[in-house]
Amino acid sequence: MEEPLIFKGLRNQLVQHLQDKGIKDVNVLNAIAKVPRHLFVQQGFEKLAYEDKPFPIACGQTISQPFTVALQTELLQVQKFDKVLEIGTGSGYQAIILAELGTNIYTIERQRELYIKANGMFNLLKYSIKSFLGDGYEGKEAYAPFKKILITAAIPEIPQKLLNQLAVGGRLVAPIGEGNEQIMTIIDRISEQEYTTSHHEKIFKFVPMLKGLV
Ligand code: SAH
Repeated sequence: MEEPLIFKGLRNQLVQHLQDKGIKDVNVLNAIAKVPRHLFVQQGFEKLAYEDKPFPIACGQTISQPFTVALQTELLQVQKFDKVLEIGTGSGYQAIILAELGTNIYTIERQRELYIKANGMFNLLKYSIKSFLGDGYEGKEAYAPFKKILITAAIPEIPQKLLNQLAVGGRLVAPIGEGNEQIMTIIDRISEQEYTTSHHEKIFKFVPMLKGLV
């Protein structure tokens, strides 16, 4: 799709900014340089879409700040063809970044309106992403195990159900915490029974992960 040249320039500036903030993964930076984030924000706000800020989407939800998308994606350490489960489709932007990295992506959203809109974006931009309306607390048993699981809403703790759906050798990244601050947490499944946990030092503010459908 043709787009005004200005957006490519703004994306390159954003990539430079993310590099300055410590994002190193070239594949992640290339994906951000390519995906038209301005198509995911409300009309009239397109030129602001490449500032490093979260943005309102429908249903009182937000598209994550580019730095957060870049960091979560970098921490996930995806390889081409990895089967990835994203919880919290929202605008669909993060799912498309993961698809750009060559992963096989499954994404779940609990709000029907966002689910429909995100599907529209996947079709418009021609990404083959398996998207589901559902409660992310349940994961997606039918397609498990996943090599990677990415949670993009604040979760108080990771339910065993989701940990069970992680492949041995796989990794889950999630902002964990109650209230309005979360710690970015990395859980590696190192064997059938063993998981190791590590943290990224920065504090985040995600919208909460809620139970049930809307
Ligand atoms: N990844 C998104 C941003 C996510 S905002 C993007 O790139 O735009 C968090 C999203 O999680 C919201 O859309 C919210 O509706 C959704 N959400 C919250 N609780 C959920 C749950 N239990 N299951 C699935 N999605 C959930």
